[in-house]
Amino acid sequence: MTDNSTPSPGTGVRFRSDVSVELVKHDASDTDVLFAARVSTVGEQSIDELGKDPERSKGLINYLMRDRHGSPFEHNSMTFLVSAPIFVFREFMRHRVGWSYNEESGRYRELQPVFYVPGEDRKLVQQGRPGKYEFVPGTPEQHKITTEEMETTYREAYASYRRMLDAGVAREVARAVLPVGLFSSMYATCNARSLMHFLSLRTQHEQAKVASFPQREIEMVAERMEAHWAGLMPLTYAAFNANGRIAP
Ligand SMILES: Cc1cc2nc3c(=O)[nH]c(=O)nc-3n(C[C@H](O)[C@H](O)[C@H](O)COP(=O)(O)OP(=O)(O)OC[C@H]3O[C@@H](n4cnc5c(N)ncnc54)[C@H](O)[C@@H]3O)c2cc1C
Repeated sequence: MTDNSTPSPGTGVRFRSDVSVELVKHDASDTDVLFAARVSTVGEQSIDELGKDPERSKGLINYLMRDRHGSPFEHNSMTFLVSAPIFVFREFMRHRVGWSYNEESGRYRELQPVFYVPGEDRKLVQQGRPGKYEFVPGTPEQHKITTEEMETTYREAYASYRRMLDAGVAREVARAVLPVGLFSSMYATCNARSLMHFLSLRTQHEQAKVASFPQREIEMVAERMEAHWAGLMPLTYAAFNANGRIAP
């Protein structure tokens, strides 16, 4: 796992501006879509037809996507190891359908002092009203205050957590002082259909027919997942984009 965190001298506290997404396990290809779809017309022989006529296969996937025949896109699986701040996981776990999650425990293990601080390229200022706002870059002063306030608060919160643990207080009680900028890790397993639904809501993309306005940090996770998936299922990925990134 990539860890670009910066250690803070003397405290063990580390700060990160990135997220990481590793594809740890997968059984996912365009042919999984094809055999599932063709059972409709050729029954159990559909598995023998896989190598035949690539142009027809491409056309079939595009038709399924366009007409929103979604179930053939469910016969595959991808497991990601995600490392991101807790506030990203809160948003992520709202995706209930076609996703399985397991996250590290703050009851059974001591939480590590790794915290999120926005990088220089993170737009800091929101303009407009909810649902119709845009983000613009922050000034150097706004970046400075953001970094300083976050780092100070994180250090204090983690020191407080440690003092309680040292005094014998249970991890599940002491963790209450830790902020949502703390990094956590989880395994998330999905299929192409549930991933497409997630991507349609958690990315901004020029080919999207329906715009979404996700928080940048969950979008960073989504973009990394998308890159893994695009390599595994290129025909499905192309059809998703060509049809406006609407999940079937
Ligand atoms: C930009 C953005 C802003 C958001 N802001 C907020 C916010 O301010 N507050 C907040 O609480 N949430 C917010 N959310 C979360 C949002 O409301 C959804 O919970 C989240 O996007 C998951 O979407 P989903 O329910 O479609 O996904 P899933 O839970 O994966 O469901 C997939 C699909 O299954 C069907 N489905 C699932 N459960 C049901 C059900 N119980 N009944 C009927 N059909 C069902 C629906 O068709 C659904 O689209 C936001 C999401 C986005 C993308």
